Amino acid sequence: MRPDITATGPFRYWVRDWQRRLRWQGEGLEPCYYCGLPADTIDHVVPQTLLDRLPELHCSPTLEADTVPACRECNTGLGPRFYNSLAERKEAAHDYLRRRYRKLIEMPDWSDAELADLADGHLKNYVRASIALRAELLRRLRW
Ligand SMILES: [Zn+2]
Repeated sequence: MRPDITATGPFRYWVRDWQRRLRWQGEGLEPCYYCGLPADTIDHVVPQTLLDRLPELHCSPTLEADTVPACRECNTGLGPRFYNSLAERKEAAHDYLRRRYRKLIEMPDWSDAELADLADGHLKNYVRASIALRAELLRRLRW
């Protein structure tokens, strides 16, 4: 996906953030464990807020990793919740993305002919951005 979309309206900030992360991809950032976007944060698999409480909870999880690289969006979406495995955590991140972008996922498909029929301007930019963002989102959910 080429980050050459001029988005307007509600996607403006997301597109800008997405384009920035695509640039970072060329700078050697690891992929987000949950969605594959360049990871700009470290996700604590056992949330730091819970670490101190594990003994009192009589809990000593055996996890594959203490931390994984994560994009800010997945990391934020997971929040300070604990999951029993990285697979569960990944599914929770995907659930978060599906909820957050439900309207984008459910957007009707546009054919090239329909898109070509639109006059140049705000609506056409909006639809083009939506199509590209949905394709990117679906890639993230297949990661
Ligand atoms: Zn992610």
